Amino acid sequence: MKILSDNHIHTFYSGENGHAIGTIEEVVKAAIEKGMKEIIISDHGPGHKFYGYKICRMNEVRKEIDRLNGKYPQINILYGTEANVMGYNGEIDLTDKEKEFLDRISVGFHYGIFNMDIKSFIIFQILNPLSKFIKPLRKYLIRKNTDALINIIKKHNIDIITHPGCKVKLDIYRLAKECEKYGTALEINSSYHDALSYEDLKIALKTNCKFSIGSDSHKPQNIGNFERSLKKIEKYNIYKNRIINLVEE
Ligand SMILES: [Zn+2]
Ligand SMILES: [Zn+2]
Repeated sequence: MKILSDNHIHTFYSGENGHAIGTIEEVVKAAIEKGMKEIIISDHGPGHKFYGYKICRMNEVRKEIDRLNGKYPQINILYGTEANVMGYNGEIDLTDKEKEFLDRISVGFHYGIFNMDIKSFIIFQILNPLSKFIKPLRKYLIRKNTDALINIIKKHNIDIITHPGCKVKLDIYRLAKECEKYGTALEINSSYHDALSYEDLKIALKTNCKFSIGSDSHKPQNIGNFERSLKKIEKYNIYKNRIINLVEE
């Protein structure tokens, strides 16, 4: 199976501080060289204190993507965002007005979010890390973290959940069932070996949810590097109709 689209790419707009490198045009050129026919630019949402893009850049980025779609007809460039979970009641860091700039919305848990409501902040930023050491907390947090993502997909028309199970623990079966219902794909991320992990992928495959493949590249040379994801696809013999990327067999 050959994946012809990369659904998770960062550019220098993710923080503008070296966290990710490459202008959008550099990313597009690298993607064409790697044989990609479609890409989703997915910079970190503005709620991330260190790596989020500046909201005032959205108009500029939209225009640049439109220009590059005209200049490079061999590739379809989509404007997406890797939005942040901003609370446990369905909050993300995009307003309806900001969503209008975008072609796709992904969402994932990231540390470095400080403007959550106080209850969400305690659960996310304090209890989650503590649960590594305090076992009785784990069951409660798995339920809460999973609810947070389900509340978001019910509210926001989310295309992809990025690196599920990587930053916080989740009930993958329950999440995948809701993803199936709401048409949200679970990412098989190529940068993180545990998102989805082999074990979680096996669980998700018991539902009819879809999957998205992303390199999560932070440098243009890593675009289209899907080795880790392809190994999992092959191991479980996942059919192309389960994958939302452009695929060639
Ligand atoms: Zn991420
Ligand atoms: Zn990312």
